[in-house]
Amino acid sequence: IIASQLVIPDEINVSWKDIAGLDNLIQELRETVILPIQKRELFADSRLTQPPKGVLLHGPPGCGKTLIAKATAKEAQMSFINLDVSLLTDKWYGETQKLAAAVFSLAVKLQPCIVFIDEIESFLRTRTQHDHEATAMMKTQFMSLWDGLITDPTCTVIIMGATNRPQDLDKAIQRRMPATFHVPMPSEMQRERILKLILQSEPVSDDIEYRRLAAATDGFSGSDLHELCRHAAVYRVRDLARDEVAKEMNQKENRSSTESDDEYQDAV
Ligand code: ATP
Repeated sequence: IIASQLVIPDEINVSWKDIAGLDNLIQELRETVILPIQKRELFADSRLTQPPKGVLLHGPPGCGKTLIAKATAKEAQMSFINLDVSLLTDKWYGETQKLAAAVFSLAVKLQPCIVFIDEIESFLRTRTQHDHEATAMMKTQFMSLWDGLITDPTCTVIIMGATNRPQDLDKAIQRRMPATFHVPMPSEMQRERILKLILQSEPVSDDIEYRRLAAATDGFSGSDLHELCRHAAVYRVRDLARDEVAKEMNQKENRSSTESDDEYQDAV
């Protein structure tokens, strides 16, 4: 199950050039997360400079958290395990325990490795008295496995969580994610850059007004902009296809009426 969520660095299909408008964030990630992996010998020397073993990306849906996680793994040449949290919550307790242990052991074998957990708050939310016993035990086990990574200075496994509800995350989990980055809704200027990136290799007209488009899409996430462009592209192709089908039908009709005229003439 876990292997199906695993990607080795060479096969990661996202890099920084697929992300628009987040240059400052990328620069910060490079210095906080990637550099310590690339120059581990320098950072691992002291307890004070240990690379972070937990990174949190938070912000509204569709603004690039997953893209950033994958591109980080690509640039740092790390393996990437996309851990589907439903695997840890749906199964029987005994099974989830084994699965969590297997994820950590696989990540350690593959290190350097990022374990990405989208919607991390859904299974590591603030603990309450109403937590199911199995859920509470799962969280405790997950945290103790994580602590195993944190206390091993030679280990280069990073748990990278994404959430749009950071306030719901258990405080103990937040402490394990000292590197925290906000991935915001794109501003007008960022929307313009995202639109240019999405359409850069598409057959668009030369006079497309990106600035106007960006101004008209207030409140759109990167994912919304992608959907908008997809719709526009599909409509265009659909129009073309409809015109071509109509033309072909006309030609067919003209041909068959000429043929029946000829048959009539022959008969006469
Ligand atoms: P969710 O919280 O719903 O998982 P997310 O923040 O992880 O969302 P992504 O899955 O990374 O968002 O982005 C969804 C899609 O939106 C991407 O595949 C891409 O097409 C587009 N996108 C979002 N942000 C950007 C960006 N900054 N630059 C380019 N494309 C973007």
